Amino acid sequence: MIVDVEATAAHRTEETEATKAMIERVEERHDLKPQRLIGDTAYGTGPMLEWLVEDKGIEPHVPVWEKTRRDDGTFSVSDFQWDEQANEYRCPQGEPLRCQWRAFGNPRGINVTGADTIIYRSTQAACTACPMKSRCCPNTPTRKIARSLYEKSREAARKVADTAAYKQSRNDRKKVEVLFAHLKRILKLDRLRLRGRRGARDEFLLAATAQNLRRMAKRWMQMTMIEPIGAT
Ligand code: SF4
Repeated sequence: MIVDVEATAAHRTEETEATKAMIERVEERHDLKPQRLIGDTAYGTGPMLEWLVEDKGIEPHVPVWEKTRRDDGTFSVSDFQWDEQANEYRCPQGEPLRCQWRAFGNPRGINVTGADTIIYRSTQAACTACPMKSRCCPNTPTRKIARSLYEKSREAARKVADTAAYKQSRNDRKKVEVLFAHLKRILKLDRLRLRGRRGARDEFLLAATAQNLRRMAKRWMQMTMIEPIGAT
């Protein structure tokens, strides 16, 4: 059943914000809170995963938005071990990558980039002598890793992606896509007739209501057809 609708422009940020608004609203109005959220990569950004995992306790069944994987044969971030306690990565050669190398008398704040990441670097001394340099950082003196501020939530999503429940969710998503296709093709929601966001919302609301009524009628028909057989 469709329990809420929200009209947005076809824009990734707006769509994720609309999803948050609908989840909050449904919780407030109907006391319903999802255990999992199924979606595409648009919902796998760091801030969205952080909101799902940390703020709402909802399991993210979405692919993580990844830009760290390398396709040129050199080591990817996944080849480096993260040590939470030491706040550092360990490279395949066992050398540390840190966000601060100098021990300052007065502790300084850690630099956060505009992309909400913290940069971890190896030392030039270690990399220059390293036999794996050509597979790690062939064009730079040291190796650098940009760690997202939301890495814990991103890691939680990666773990979910390895489960059987995640595979099931991908199949479940296909069933929901069929409903969207029905809305477009049969209920003719492939283009909007009313103008503005309010008009779009009204059309979505009517279409969702029609879709729900259709499904309720179908379920009721199935139940009334099954009942006499169950009674014999
Ligand atoms: S090049 Fe540097 S960071 Fe890369 S594996 Fe060697 S020592 Fe480690």
